Amino acid sequence: MKNSLVITLDGHSACGKSTLAKLIAKEMNYKYIDTGAMYRAITFFFDDNCLIDNQGLLKNNAFDYLDKIKIGFSKLDEKGQSFVTLNGVVVESKIRNLEISNLVSEVSKHKPIRRKMVEIQQSYSSDGGLVMDGRDIGSVVFPNADIKFWVTASSKTRAKRRLSEMLDKNIKVDLKDVIDNISRRDYEDQNRKESPLIKPIGAIEIDNSNLSINQTLDLAMNHVNSLLNK
Ligand code: C5P
Repeated sequence: MKNSLVITLDGHSACGKSTLAKLIAKEMNYKYIDTGAMYRAITFFFDDNCLIDNQGLLKNNAFDYLDKIKIGFSKLDEKGQSFVTLNGVVVESKIRNLEISNLVSEVSKHKPIRRKMVEIQQSYSSDGGLVMDGRDIGSVVFPNADIKFWVTASSKTRAKRRLSEMLDKNIKVDLKDVIDNISRRDYEDQNRKESPLIKPIGAIEIDNSNLSINQTLDLAMNHVNSLLNK
């Protein structure tokens, strides 16, 4: 088996896929790409430039700006982390709040936006091993990935997890708003026309509702290692 794998993780909001993806990437010494951060960054651009109306809908002229928007990732910092950039500027601190969370599913349903993001995402597989997480990675971005995971967790676990992540980042929210946001995004992501969230064909399901982070990582790495040892 080749040594530079493409590993994809898909799943609902706050199911733990990013945490798992980062750990797999660290273990394998692979690049990690958080595609949710890319959709959040482009949403931040549109919001910041008044291209989203007060109903939360993208204005028609927003598409005229697509060529001017450059999404990328910063170089690894001393902790080995890399963050999404918008036109060369790290926007991590601006994209995790509830305002962007409430707008991002509307923005990401549009075909021209997805086309642009998918092209960038596919380009990351050209130089070595890659771990990428999102909603359409195993189904659309890398349908021939070497290994695909479908990560799940109960709704209660997911909401509590997202709340504590936001509180850790000093973002003030309450559990009810987090639950509302997660359920609305899940619905919109699963029911959109373009690249809806689905369990990709051939994906291995990992339900981490009752697993610790280390147990979840061990489970995933057993699958990766058994593929590498084939
Ligand atoms: O993963 P995260 O919750 O940050 O993703 C934010 C939103 O970005 C999702 O709710 C979804 O609308 C969109 N997204 C997407 N396709 C991806 C990754 C994220 O549509 N591959």
